[in-house]
Amino acid sequence: MDLAYTEEEEEFRARLREWLASVLPGLPAKPSPDDWPARRAYDTHWQRTLYDAGYAGLHWPPDAGGRGATPTQHLIFLEETERAGAPYVGANFVGLLHAGPTIAAEGTAAQRARWLPPVLRGDEIWCQGFSEPDAGSDLAALRTRAVRDGDDYVVSGSKIWTSHAEVADWCELLVRTDPAAPKHRGISWLAMPMDAPGVTVRPLRTLAGSTEFAEMFLDEVRVPLSHRVGAENDGWRVTMVTLSFERGTAFVGEVVACRRTLDELAAAARANGRWDDPVLRRRLGGLNAEFRALWRLTQWNVSEAQRSGGVPGTGGSVFKLRYSRARQELYGAAAEVLGADGLDLDREWVLDRLSSLSYTIAAGTSEIQRNIVAERILGLPKGR
Ligand SMILES: Cc1cc2nc3c(=O)[nH]c(=O)nc-3n(C[C@H](O)[C@H](O)[C@H](O)COP(=O)(O)OP(=O)(O)OC[C@H]3O[C@@H](n4cnc5c(N)ncnc54)[C@H](O)[C@@H]3O)c2cc1C
Repeated sequence: MDLAYTEEEEEFRARLREWLASVLPGLPAKPSPDDWPARRAYDTHWQRTLYDAGYAGLHWPPDAGGRGATPTQHLIFLEETERAGAPYVGANFVGLLHAGPTIAAEGTAAQRARWLPPVLRGDEIWCQGFSEPDAGSDLAALRTRAVRDGDDYVVSGSKIWTSHAEVADWCELLVRTDPAAPKHRGISWLAMPMDAPGVTVRPLRTLAGSTEFAEMFLDEVRVPLSHRVGAENDGWRVTMVTLSFERGTAFVGEVVACRRTLDELAAAARANGRWDDPVLRRRLGGLNAEFRALWRLTQWNVSEAQRSGGVPGTGGSVFKLRYSRARQELYGAAAEVLGADGLDLDREWVLDRLSSLSYTIAAGTSEIQRNIVAERILGLPKGR
């Protein structure tokens, strides 16, 4: 892998930097972290701004409406938007980073034409209905049923921990279409409209006080057969594609954000005298090395994915495992640097610290990532 930037890539960086400097000052103020409708409006406005300037879906293939940019351009985009303090993908996370890429990889031409442009334009928001009360890590144990009735599936069951369900238009939903089949073989992947009759969303409050996720109750919800992505009962394979995007590439922009946070922490430590503590300096230095290594791993994962047809491999589990741990350590170090001041600062620090605790659970727990690394990368025997 060649990590040097070409002249063309440096030009791309310069143009992007110039564009960011021209648009960011005109952005509306960031809404309160708890106001999800306002956050949706803010995030979709930013997505539309990117779209109008030709920066939406840089890493998506051209036949899915993307720009077909090189992996390096995509990483430059992430670096520069973060460096400039541009808004994060936010409520468009699922649509842009894993439901959209799954439809691009597995959907029919009609499905791509229906669902991908609104994601790129920021017109429609997606959520993920995978987890159930008794099927989280053991995702294939899901029980939500979908029974064929004419041209529709009739879906009944419940989902939990559905991020952004309150503001989503669509849900990437896993359902059981053949209860008699072995558990991995009777699953299908559907696109469910969130405004369909029978969908009830009940927000859940997190440790940080936010209602970022919800329970979903599905009572005889009709979903057209044409909304199934992939073949009936082949949903587990499609799910693996979704999870490989979720673990492999969806969090990469956040690594840049963590590096920026680390720089801010070092500056705060210098300003408040904590920098004189060699133990703390070593801790921040260790984190700096970890985030640099994670960025290299990201570069490797993204270019490998591009080389092998666009779908990231199991290397994403190594990334997810290390990244979620490093993020928690970063906010632990922040608490040490800022002390009581950290609580008085802008409330986002506190929320970020509390939400960092969820990173080793969301998108597959660390124990599950270790199992994947052990079995699929190291070739160790499968656990019972
Ligand atoms: C902030 C956040 C956002 C989320 N957003 C979504 C979302 O939008 N959509 C969605 O569908 N889900 C979402 N989730 C759910 C998430 O994917 C699940 O919480 C996760 O997969 C773990 O499942 P569980 O909570 O059922 O825990 P369990 O599966 O009950 O696990 C409990 C503990 O047992 C361990 N364990 C379980 N099985 C094994 C094993 N085989 N080997 C070793 N250890 C094991 C786990 O690692 C964990 O420590 C979100 C979760 C969080 C925290």
